[in-house]
Amino acid sequence: MPGKRPDPTKLARTHWDLIVIGGGITGAGILLMASRLGLKVLLVEQRDFAWGTSSRSSKMVHGGLRYIAQGDIGLTRDALRERERLIQELPELVVRQDYLFPIRRKRFPGRWSMKLLLWLYDRLAGIRDHRWLTRSAVLDRLPGFEQTGLKGAMTYTDALTDDSRLVLRILHEGTAEGGVVCNYLTADAVTATDTGFRIRVTDGCDHSTHELDTTRVINATGAWADRLSGSAARIRPLRGSHLFVSRQRVPVNHCLTILHPKDGRPVFIFPWEGATCIGTTDLDHDKNLDEEPRCSRRELDYLLELANSQFPELQLAPADVISTWAGVRPVISSGKGLDPSQERREHDVWENDGVITVSGGKLTTFRLIALDALEAAGLLDAQGRREHGHDRTPLFRPRELHPGGGHPLRAWPELSDTQWVEWILEHEMVVHLDDLLLRRTHLGLLHRRGAREQLDALRAPCQRLLGWDEERWTREVERYIVLIEQYYSVPGDPA
Ligand SMILES: Cc1cc2nc3c(=O)[nH]c(=O)nc-3n(C[C@H](O)[C@H](O)[C@H](O)COP(=O)(O)OP(=O)(O)OC[C@H]3O[C@@H](n4cnc5c(N)ncnc54)[C@H](O)[C@@H]3O)c2cc1C
Repeated sequence: MPGKRPDPTKLARTHWDLIVIGGGITGAGILLMASRLGLKVLLVEQRDFAWGTSSRSSKMVHGGLRYIAQGDIGLTRDALRERERLIQELPELVVRQDYLFPIRRKRFPGRWSMKLLLWLYDRLAGIRDHRWLTRSAVLDRLPGFEQTGLKGAMTYTDALTDDSRLVLRILHEGTAEGGVVCNYLTADAVTATDTGFRIRVTDGCDHSTHELDTTRVINATGAWADRLSGSAARIRPLRGSHLFVSRQRVPVNHCLTILHPKDGRPVFIFPWEGATCIGTTDLDHDKNLDEEPRCSRRELDYLLELANSQFPELQLAPADVISTWAGVRPVISSGKGLDPSQERREHDVWENDGVITVSGGKLTTFRLIALDALEAAGLLDAQGRREHGHDRTPLFRPRELHPGGGHPLRAWPELSDTQWVEWILEHEMVVHLDDLLLRRTHLGLLHRRGAREQLDALRAPCQRLLGWDEERWTREVERYIVLIEQYYSVPGDPA
């Protein structure tokens, strides 16, 4: 990926084969697959790459046990196959992880129903990896774990990733294949022309407007999809929030799957980049989508209640929370007013006056979602879609993306380790400080107060490599601190 954003004026001089709107994992996947087909493709993103849902997920590359339990065998099978592919192709970024599902007396599911579920889960993935852990083995692994009724646990494997880095990795691959990407460029309107479509865009950096011409357009704007689809609204935005606490406070080495005592929903407690993450919630998001979502006090209490029900001695309190964040799931509504957690998580692709819209789905299945969107856009025929779906050719070619040998999932280095920060500034189109601290890395979430005390270490590399003067640096720090305080800190009010 080029280090600097392309000039939108120059982008307007090309007639594109395809413009993809939305720089989350879905748009990134379409960019990559379309570039591989030899098309001239441009991707535009209104904020930063992965700014939407794709940097705010539970970071799991998984089949989704709850989907199989809901009878979504096809979705689970596809996701598990994609999981195995990603673990093999990107071992530094998609890492197999032990999951642990505690079984308690008189609680559903019991040992044998869980075993049956996991047998099927493994079978669909083509592996055999689940096993029973006795009560004492569980307590050895989880000091302080609630013992009441504990019989043992089923263990199985899924995978964890760094979601926004996965999006960036796909964008690096797509741009290496000839695709062009531009962040902070909003698509305001799409109109049909004799040769395809004209898209009016606004540059988020200088507010200039431009018109881009393309033969085809795919609207991959996730939770925002209804705005550009031209068809009746289909998205039910559902918010999910997470929080980080320190690993010392909640020292888990496994990904715990726990059914919340209040409503029986599965919630995870898992190790991530040196901290412990707890999440997620699932509720209707009725706020303005132009504003960043944030974790409410009610959600924070719900997540702490879960952790305290499993580790009662810890007595976790809001003061233990390092940071919080929220994302909005682009769920295709059933229209039946179901409980949020009962809505299916499958993606859908639809067309209106030639504009193809794709939304819903999961991080894990981005490759298959991209193929479906390309087929709907007429860029792949049914046979091509089938062949690509089964194609085992590696999606990712070996690339040296972190000269410091950084292994993101094992904990990022500190801000003062400038080698990799410099590499990011030179190669990943950083426009604002929060791009660097919240999506290229997650340092702003992994340290209290957004790592405010350490920001000074970034001043020199940002000034040298991004050309920021003193005034710009001060503005960026102010903007970043406002974001952290409003959207990523411990919430005070219940809304
Ligand atoms: C709490 C939570 C946990 C999740 N956990 C998992 C998980 O563990 N594993 C998993 O596989 N999936 C998970 N998911 C689902 C997964 O994160 C989403 O399905 C996926 O990120 C959606 O990607 P997307 O590209 O479709 O949407 P997004 O990532 O939201 O991308 C859409 C982009 O379009 C941009 N955009 C909007 N309007 C415009 C415009 N007019 N012009 C230009 N750009 C525009 C937005 O800024 C946004 O960046 C989770 C989701 C949530 C909310």
